[in-house]
Amino acid sequence: MLLTQDQEMIRDAVRAFAQEELWPNAAKWDKEHHFPKDAHQGLAHLGAYGICVPEEYGGANLDYLTLALVLEEIAAGDGGTSTAISVTNCPVNAILMRYGNEAQKRQWLTPLAQGEMLGVFCLTEPHVGSDASALRTTAVKEGDGFTAGPPQGETRPLGGQGGHVSAERGGDHYLINGVKQFITSGKNGHVAIVIAVTDKGAGKKGMSAFIVPTSAPGYGVARLEDKLGQNSSDTAQINFDNCRIPAENLIGAEGEGYRIALSALEGGRIGIAAQSVGMARSALDVAIAYAKDRQSFGTAIINHQAVGFRLADCATRLEAARQLIWHAAALRDAGRPCLKEAAMAKLFASETAEAVCSAAIQTLGGYGYVSDFPVERIYRDVRVCQIYEGTSDVQKIIIQRGL
Ligand SMILES: Cc1cc2nc3c(=O)[nH]c(=O)nc-3n(C[C@H](O)[C@H](O)[C@H](O)COP(=O)(O)OP(=O)(O)OC[C@H]3O[C@@H](n4cnc5c(N)ncnc54)[C@H](O)[C@@H]3O)c2cc1C
Repeated sequence: MLLTQDQEMIRDAVRAFAQEELWPNAAKWDKEHHFPKDAHQGLAHLGAYGICVPEEYGGANLDYLTLALVLEEIAAGDGGTSTAISVTNCPVNAILMRYGNEAQKRQWLTPLAQGEMLGVFCLTEPHVGSDASALRTTAVKEGDGFTAGPPQGETRPLGGQGGHVSAERGGDHYLINGVKQFITSGKNGHVAIVIAVTDKGAGKKGMSAFIVPTSAPGYGVARLEDKLGQNSSDTAQINFDNCRIPAENLIGAEGEGYRIALSALEGGRIGIAAQSVGMARSALDVAIAYAKDRQSFGTAIINHQAVGFRLADCATRLEAARQLIWHAAALRDAGRPCLKEAAMAKLFASETAEAVCSAAIQTLGGYGYVSDFPVERIYRDVRVCQIYEGTSDVQKIIIQRGL
């Protein structure tokens, strides 16, 4: 597939920024668990926070293929930064664009697209990830005659009173209670889309989606996770403790939350796949440069066929992954179904990326295993791409259903 001139121009601008501002600092941010606010602002100026958002809401009004290009470049600079920006673009912006009303778009989508706010998506809970139909976080409308409080049996690791509140007010607010797990930008983000149960007896049709500013009383960071990688992006456990939000923050209608959440994951998976390729590309570039320089038995190691062929395999598989991503993105941009293709792209790209990063470590020998070279960090960073926005097993379920 060939890119348009505009797509190449945008890709090159983001690449230049990522190589100058992200790549030289990524190791330091990883060690210090630093969230690079300035770099985020720089990327926001380039339009990276609102790639597919229409201009009238402050976005760049571009397509999913361009979003994939941008995320590959950011990830090639720093994996953690690409994850935070990926979540903002999709699912957060994507949900607001498709299901938000005019007032919600003006109030939330515009500052998100312009980089004044970082988006957060709260679906996963401590006891449930892959099976999103089993959520326990509740949202109860005040005045409905319900008594609000934490869901039964829910844990609250760092306190939070979770006391019961009798519903006496007039139904213009919801009270959210529960715990969300592994939430990207849960601490550094500004506005969250939260999926919660509004009708316990209605299963998948009993969930709803809400806009929750992270400054809302009752939104609390219970714990920051100590992760294998991607340390420039925070991953938090969020405690909703009688978190009170206006009823106008409901997205769509009550009962549409499950459908809304899942619809956004399709585009999100294209983004994660692109991130995988970006990270692995950087590891491969380091390995190629090293293999041309490092000598053994009187020649550069790339001249040993075992090393040269390993790198050739990596480059080929990475290009195949990229083409799967571009194909899925092109289908989505054309308004055609791409659930299976997005799952294929995410499955293949994330698994290929880990294999490529492992091969890069192997190519550097002992130097691949120490932090003087970036490949060990990238290997740690890329691993989660096989887990978040649906594990590899979940992607296979989606692909199998589409056969
Ligand atoms: C760094 C990081 C960032 C994240 N960011 C976010 C975020 O911003 N928002 C958010 O909501 N979530 C986020 N997540 C959560 C992530 O999406 C979940 O971890 C993921 O969906 C898997 O859920 P789980 O961890 O509960 O695993 P489980 O669902 O418990 O799965 C455990 C294992 O069982 C397998 N399995 C489960 N069911 C099946 C099945 N039917 N068939 C075959 N195998 C199966 C899985 O593949 C996996 O190997 C993040 C996670 C991480 C690690």
